[in-house]
Amino acid sequence: MNDAISSPRLAARVCGLAGSATVEMSERIRQAQAAGAEVLPLASGDPNLPTHPEIIAAAHRALQEGQTRYGPAAGLPALRTALARRLSARGGAGYSADELLVTPGGKFAVFAAMMAVVEPGDEVIHFDPCWVSYRACVRLCGGVPVAVPALGTIDAGRVAAAVTPRTRMIVVNSPVNPTGAVLSRDELAALLAIAERHDLWLLFDQVYAELVFAPDGFVPLQSLPGAKRRTFIADSLSKTYGMTGWRLGCLAAPEAAAKAVLKVIQHSIYCVPPFIQAAALAALALPESIVERHRERFRRRRDVAAAALGALPGISCAAPPATFYLFPKVGGDDKAVAAEWLEKLAIAVLPGSAFGAAGAGHLRLSLACSDEVLDEALARLRRHYLANSRDKDEIKTGSTA
Ligand code: PLP
Repeated sequence: MNDAISSPRLAARVCGLAGSATVEMSERIRQAQAAGAEVLPLASGDPNLPTHPEIIAAAHRALQEGQTRYGPAAGLPALRTALARRLSARGGAGYSADELLVTPGGKFAVFAAMMAVVEPGDEVIHFDPCWVSYRACVRLCGGVPVAVPALGTIDAGRVAAAVTPRTRMIVVNSPVNPTGAVLSRDELAALLAIAERHDLWLLFDQVYAELVFAPDGFVPLQSLPGAKRRTFIADSLSKTYGMTGWRLGCLAAPEAAAKAVLKVIQHSIYCVPPFIQAAALAALALPESIVERHRERFRRRRDVAAAALGALPGISCAAPPATFYLFPKVGGDDKAVAAEWLEKLAIAVLPGSAFGAAGAGHLRLSLACSDEVLDEALARLRRHYLANSRDKDEIKTGSTA
């Protein structure tokens, strides 16, 4: 008898949930590479930045000093203070350690904030296309995700029209995964006005805030007057410092809300391992020039890749103001194009529709790979599209030469 079939029933909240398109693609690539297949990975949001040796040394030291036990559930006071200082320095609102919780990555910060706000049947507005986990986190909390299309700028009228008596929260992400867009002060102000009118929470995900290319290009939502009291901020060291595997993020919230979320942490993960937090403190103490270097590397890749993709027939590609993502328009069926790139060119990217219906007709390319992988992928694409357009011309003209 098949064990899986005879097992007791699982909850609908997981049975009905789609897996993460990004995580599953990363796992598929890992498996293919382990089996000896060559795949050029342009799918993952994991920057190819080696963790700085000082961060690794700090973790070693903490382990040798015995920081191997439970720590405070909210996070080490020194780290909460450092995170609060960093957040305050970014501009807008001042934060204290009491308003900061250390979380295992920005992903858990998003989930924990929703756990504290969303009750069964509550609605949470998010934009489409968006990061793949917002919808799933809302569903895991028993809530209902409500998508508002926003491929270009945010239309406040559409957001206002999506609000119902069950709406509790609007998820706002800037810079945006998957498009690399940065929300303007006017867009944020319009969302804040809607949240104030209907007494809603805002969840502001700013995990790419350090990867904005124009100086002063980033507007933190919490910098708008009145925003702080209704805003959860999810942030992370993953993308900024190449620390995805360390699982270190944070949630900032008004003190009473932070206290409520702390119970979610106490009863689920308990705490982020103290030696990981010691490493995070070392990361935050690194000179700003290190982050600048990372940013510059991604800006250079963006320029090269956006120009190369835009030169291919049938593809248009803007150079976004932030992140290490490109979201070119490919026309036609994005899933079929992504599958073709994988099968014929061994280039792994994600179809735009994996990020929501409004992403259809686009691909999401991640430039978090090495320069060599990116150059090789662009060369293959150039050859492939050139050969295809030559074939089409030949068919059109009847040429057999
Ligand atoms: N938010 C966005 C928009 C992301 O793209 C990601 C990761 O890809 C996260 C949050 C979570 O990152 P982490 O949990 O590694 O901090």
